[in-house]
Amino acid sequence: MPSSFPSIGFPTIRPRRLRATPLLRELVRETALDVRDFILPLFVRFGRGIKQEISSMPGNFQLSVDRLVEEVGQAKELGIKSFILFGIPEHKDATGSSALPDSGIVQQSLRALREQYRSDVILMTDECLCEYTDHGHCGVLIERAGRIDVDNDATLPILVAQCVSHAKAGADVIAPSGMMDGMVGAIRAGLDSAGFQNIPIMSYAAKYASGFYGPFREAAESPPQFGDRGGYQMDPANSDEAMRETALDINEGADIVMVKPALSYLDIIRRVKDTFAMPTAAYNVSGEFAMVKAAARNGWIDERGHDSDISRPRRGTLVEIGLNLIAFRSGW
Ligand SMILES: [Zn+2]
Repeated sequence: MPSSFPSIGFPTIRPRRLRATPLLRELVRETALDVRDFILPLFVRFGRGIKQEISSMPGNFQLSVDRLVEEVGQAKELGIKSFILFGIPEHKDATGSSALPDSGIVQQSLRALREQYRSDVILMTDECLCEYTDHGHCGVLIERAGRIDVDNDATLPILVAQCVSHAKAGADVIAPSGMMDGMVGAIRAGLDSAGFQNIPIMSYAAKYASGFYGPFREAAESPPQFGDRGGYQMDPANSDEAMRETALDINEGADIVMVKPALSYLDIIRRVKDTFAMPTAAYNVSGEFAMVKAAARNGWIDERGHDSDISRPRRGTLVEIGLNLIAFRSGW
């Protein structure tokens, strides 16, 4: 026990004194959630007037561009200023080509939001091909010795083109999520040579292969059609590897590093923050959100309980170390 801890105890010391009333508890509360720390994920698709709830993520929707603009307006009224966009294209193919054109769904969304909200919002874009490929993997495929794999180096230029296209359409922050080796460096070089030296990169630096992504794949319509993503996302058993991945991304020019998922990897978030002292984000992923919602719907937990650790202090744990937190909308 540290020497600053009291050497005397009960009855002189009574920790319950400061828990006696809600106001006293509020006065000494160590962490507070601030809406400015939140980044709201939004899913956008072609069409008009579409606002289709994602069944496993109540309160979250697939939106057409017109409804996306409304949704961002409502979220702004709640104080949310940062948004990360995920696109659902009309057509998918082997190389994810619909991620690239100016008329792409994310590009259209960026222009519409920028026109409406100018610099009152931060628009981030998830950068990956899995929403755009017909096989659902995060890059283009190659067969080597009878084994199909994601071709890391052939994927990089497509990813760079996607990022540059989003920057041109108005993205404020580029967020590559595909866990390709060298992706941050390639994107940094691509953005720089296109004149976007000042656009930051928020890298999904330590993104684990996770069962908690299930509801998101419904939301973004991006499940892998065969195999899994274990060949590029990280092994959940590894912690040192997360440090190495994060160090590589920082060396390649990442401005913000992210750990994903959040709640299952609090130890990694702590290690990353302590080791690198970088602006750090955590992604409270769809499955982590859906578990809370499902249990609440069944009456098994009270997600809004007055002193509940389900939403507030639980996320407070993440905010305590100065994180930005990507979290889905609770719909309260
Ligand atoms: Zn992906």
